[in-house]
Amino acid sequence: MSSPSCPVCGRELRIVVTTYEVPFLDRILLTSISCECGFRHADSVVVDAKEPTRYTIKINKNNLFTKVIRSTSGTIRIPEIGTSIEPGPASQAFITNVEGVLDRIEGIVKMAMRWNSHDKEKVERCKWILERIRNTIEGDEELTLILEDPFGNSLILSDEAFREVMSNEEASKLKTGMNVFDVTGLSEKDLLEL
Ligand SMILES: [Zn+2]
Repeated sequence: MSSPSCPVCGRELRIVVTTYEVPFLDRILLTSISCECGFRHADSVVVDAKEPTRYTIKINKNNLFTKVIRSTSGTIRIPEIGTSIEPGPASQAFITNVEGVLDRIEGIVKMAMRWNSHDKEKVERCKWILERIRNTIEGDEELTLILEDPFGNSLILSDEAFREVMSNEEASKLKTGMNVFDVTGLSEKDLLEL
């Protein structure tokens, strides 16, 4: 059987599968595909768990190192700051920690702030979000991190995280790979206009 070919240049892809054993849970496969031309894609699959799953955890400066595994079908939400990372055509799986998630969101908000620099209201909202993130990493504030995955392929590795199985109706409302980012309550159109 020959390897699949690169969607960009057609050359043969390099495929690496890494297995993680998660105590009391499942086996996780992280597949990364790469090509000499620079094309890369990563995805994670939790073996056995296929139920739509939601993890909820209160995050603060004491649990920033909590591991977060987000597959390409995972949606991350922080309701207090109205921010989410949703699956999109360019989304990649990542294994990071809570601080890594906050860093990503910080980067996206800073970008949105630059794109909307003429709009005072949006700039103020971005600044407010950045302050909440900073106060959570360095100060005494707390935020809620929610990770939802209709295929159960994303997880938060912590006893402090509350895990629940979502109803099919809830799961059907999740995006699974058609949209890119929805940040700070700005619509995708707002972000692309500038
Ligand atoms: Zn290629």
